[in-house]
Amino acid sequence: MFAAEAIGTTTRSQTPSLKALILNASYEPLRIVSWQKALILWFQDKVEILEYHTKFVRSVSATFELPSVIRMKKYVKPKRIDGVRFCRENVYIRDLFMCQYCCVKFAAKDLTIDHVIPASQNGPKNWTNVVTACRACNQRKANRTPEKAKMPLFKPVKAPAWLPVLEHEVPADKAPPAWKEYLRFSKT
Ligand SMILES: [Zn+2]
Repeated sequence: MFAAEAIGTTTRSQTPSLKALILNASYEPLRIVSWQKALILWFQDKVEILEYHTKFVRSVSATFELPSVIRMKKYVKPKRIDGVRFCRENVYIRDLFMCQYCCVKFAAKDLTIDHVIPASQNGPKNWTNVVTACRACNQRKANRTPEKAKMPLFKPVKAPAWLPVLEHEVPADKAPPAWKEYLRFSKT
């Protein structure tokens, strides 16, 4: 449909900067798509374009600026939580690299994973029972519940909504500048 050479690239060697960030009608980031998909959604009148890349594509009859950030005209139900992989790195991202007991931000190497209800008391290893903790808090809490240790969590534990998925697709430091104001929980 488009003359890819017009933007000096091929569809196969696209860089993240030529992709588009899709926001929900509520401005919540949903996912990242190719510029082709972004233009198709726009032709279908499903999205409005909020930001552009400084690149163009030519079709037979017209030239189009490539969308960088697009917004759904109708609200869509965000991707289900079970689509977010449960792993140490995603727990850190959900918790913004902050110890959930002392509320201090740490580098990943200084963080640990803590079972809120200890594994020894049958606490499961899942999104709602695992939090980010610094080494000192993890040691102090030891094999106790937050109540027993008198170490309350500074916010309730919830499964993450969407960001870890986006972070894995495009790391925060590689996201185009135009995306940053829409990615509210970026780790940088
Ligand atoms: Zn701590």
